[in-house]
Amino acid sequence: MRAAPHFRLGLIFLAVALSVAPLRAQDRLQVVTSFSILGDFVKNIGGDRVEVTNLVGPDGDVHVYAPAPADARKIAKAKLLVINGLGLEGWLPRLLQAAGGNAPIVTATNGIAPLKLGSDADPHAWQSVANAKKYVSNIRDALVAADPAGAETFRQNADTYRAKLDGLEREVRDAITQIPESRRKVISTHDAFGYFASAYGIQFIAPLGASTESEASARDIANIIAQIKAAKIPAVFLEKISDPRLMRLISDESGARVGGTLYSDSLTDEKGDAPTYIDMVRHNIRALTSALAN
Ligand SMILES: [Zn+2]
Repeated sequence: MRAAPHFRLGLIFLAVALSVAPLRAQDRLQVVTSFSILGDFVKNIGGDRVEVTNLVGPDGDVHVYAPAPADARKIAKAKLLVINGLGLEGWLPRLLQAAGGNAPIVTATNGIAPLKLGSDADPHAWQSVANAKKYVSNIRDALVAADPAGAETFRQNADTYRAKLDGLEREVRDAITQIPESRRKVISTHDAFGYFASAYGIQFIAPLGASTESEASARDIANIIAQIKAAKIPAVFLEKISDPRLMRLISDESGARVGGTLYSDSLTDEKGDAPTYIDMVRHNIRALTSALAN
């Protein structure tokens, strides 16, 4: 029996409506990420097919996170766990052991050649936009494996987002060329910009080392001030998760400009300066160009 044309058309409409209708919350792929920047990548690629939970949310410090019992429950329910790797989530192995569950884990930095920070790998690979595109590819492949029915959506979303990142990378490079070469150096409280420095040619000098756990001594501060004067560093930055009083003191003593906030390891909430990765990079590049302008 052949279906009447209008009946077949109706079936086609139904099929199209079903395929574009957003999934209900409980039907979405439950994805847990270790911190907010990964969460933003997952949302951009997963769209309506995923429900994203960050263990360390906006404005949190992923280096020194202390997992709560609720985090173990989130992991136990997850269908995919997205982590940065390169030693960023030192607290994760114990949490995984406590949580159980058998969700696949994707390391978003897979395939990225790590820079060194002291004797360890530098985990802040997302600060180069070229690396962010690798994160996107890794997350896309993991989403496709976890939810094959969404493969086409994930691929299209990833292509769209990667094109935005290409545009962002051009913005960063154009902005840096506006800064006189002799002024492309800053001091920042948290040594999180190694990949940015290496990709875009701005020198970052960090007084506090890699982790926000360490405190600077009076002698460290004296050394920093001497360093700023000797190297004629034009600007210092108050990273939001370190002590701003320290940077003011350094600025007063050295004459370097205080350049506002650079976001490194966390997004802000919706009302902040950096609710998405792209907003974060744009904010940072504006802060850098205005602090380093003549
Ligand atoms: Zn960091």
